[in-house]
Amino acid sequence: MTGRIKLKYNATPTAREKAYHLWLIDTHPCACGCGAVSGVVHHPLTRHPEQRWRRDHEFVVPMHGLCHMRLHQEGSERGSGVDYAGLAFRLRARGYEEGIL
Ligand SMILES: [Zn+2]
Ligand SMILES: [Zn+2]
Repeated sequence: MTGRIKLKYNATPTAREKAYHLWLIDTHPCACGCGAVSGVVHHPLTRHPEQRWRRDHEFVVPMHGLCHMRLHQEGSERGSGVDYAGLAFRLRARGYEEGIL
């Protein structure tokens, strides 16, 4: 995972990042812990040291659409009791292990 030349933030996920998002949605339930099937990915707002920029497409968590909407309406991941950034980091590691990323 080193040596990748990709310095600029791209608003659109690459094909590889999109495949990773679909894999997350297909294989993981909603990150909020509700147990619902995921339908979207959320970019945690909390920075992680390995995160390249605020909306890094490798740092995402799968979520159910309604839970995702609620998270944004509430406006804060803090107080949710869920470590979305930590989860995004662990999922990303698995994505690399599985050869998806
Ligand atoms: Zn949920
Ligand atoms: Zn989101």
